[in-house]
Amino acid sequence: MLKATKIRLYPTREQAEFLNRQFGSVRFCYNTGLRIMSHRYKRHGQSLSAKYDTKKLLPVAKKSRKYGWLKEADSVALAQACINLDKAFQRFFKEKKGYPRFKRKRGKQSSYHCMSVSCGESWVKVPKLGPIKARVHRSVEGKLKSITLSRTVTGKHYASLLYETEQPVPEPMTAIDATKVLGLDMGLSHLAIDSTGRKVANPRFIKQVQKNLKRKQQSLSRKQKGSSKRAKARLLVAKAHERVADARSDFQHKLSRQIVDDNQAVIVETLKVNNMMKNAKLAKHIGDASWHALIAKLAYKAKEQGKHLVKIDPWFASSKTCHVCQHKMDAMPLNIRSWACPTCHTRHDRDINAALNIQHQGILKLKAEGLSVSAHRGLRKSGMPPVAAVEVGSSVR
Ligand SMILES: [Zn+2]
Repeated sequence: MLKATKIRLYPTREQAEFLNRQFGSVRFCYNTGLRIMSHRYKRHGQSLSAKYDTKKLLPVAKKSRKYGWLKEADSVALAQACINLDKAFQRFFKEKKGYPRFKRKRGKQSSYHCMSVSCGESWVKVPKLGPIKARVHRSVEGKLKSITLSRTVTGKHYASLLYETEQPVPEPMTAIDATKVLGLDMGLSHLAIDSTGRKVANPRFIKQVQKNLKRKQQSLSRKQKGSSKRAKARLLVAKAHERVADARSDFQHKLSRQIVDDNQAVIVETLKVNNMMKNAKLAKHIGDASWHALIAKLAYKAKEQGKHLVKIDPWFASSKTCHVCQHKMDAMPLNIRSWACPTCHTRHDRDINAALNIQHQGILKLKAEGLSVSAHRGLRKSGMPPVAAVEVGSSVR
């Protein structure tokens, strides 16, 4: 089983300067590759299907006088930059994701190393550089596979270590208790609503750091362009961003841990996020809720325990369908929070009804995959009135 851990690094000034050049070389390879690919794409358009290997250009560039300085960097990192670019193009063509963007000097930097890497109790080592001081919280037993170095916008260095442990990946469960299948819906007023009627709000501490971020952003917008005050304000905004991201990630780790520990299968809807992202007004809310990041955390935690994370397409209109009688409403505007089914007269809380539909669809999908899902024992009460919705919000840590 592969295990990852992220640790903080404390490079000396010389090491930081070397890393800066290393990151610069990686960025150069990515951006140059992107420039070449963009040129080809413009000329050949969608027909650009054959994999064009920018990696092959690396040895040529290293031999040239102009780009000879690329030799100073770890060659694995440069090759990986080309692979990452290729992946970005694959996502663009196959998954219809956005067109790859240039890496910015001011943005987050990273470089990947997998040859001659090592790690000790208080250091990590990558090629062409002495051991870098590190804070290792816990040693992971197993074989070190790779180290990805990164530098945040605020100048903090990190290393993500990937280990291969002796422990095998647990076999996925084949028999699932239906009462341990959780449908999870993303809401606008809440981060998540589940099929037991629980609504998880974004906790207060995240709202506080967000407020702080907003204040810093306003302050930045008032500073004159190119001034040193603006540069300082920009750093403060980056730090505030980092605090928001850290707080959110911390909360999502705890929430996903609890959800996976308590259930055998978790069902989530995926495409809706993409559709909603197109609506600019909603994008902010969803960005805040960062549904994608939560799903990613649920996915790997579930895998570690042999549990299931089922992603379903929202084609069945989870919000518009009555989960009791399957009556489908023509429209369900976003401002309607609760509604009554015209056929079976059940009163629904909009979000809980959707979560129950998601749970139901997930069970069907699990069964279709050949798993045995034991029948409902009436534990899930249908048509839960909105008053029964339990607000858990900030109590979940
Ligand atoms: Zn109904």
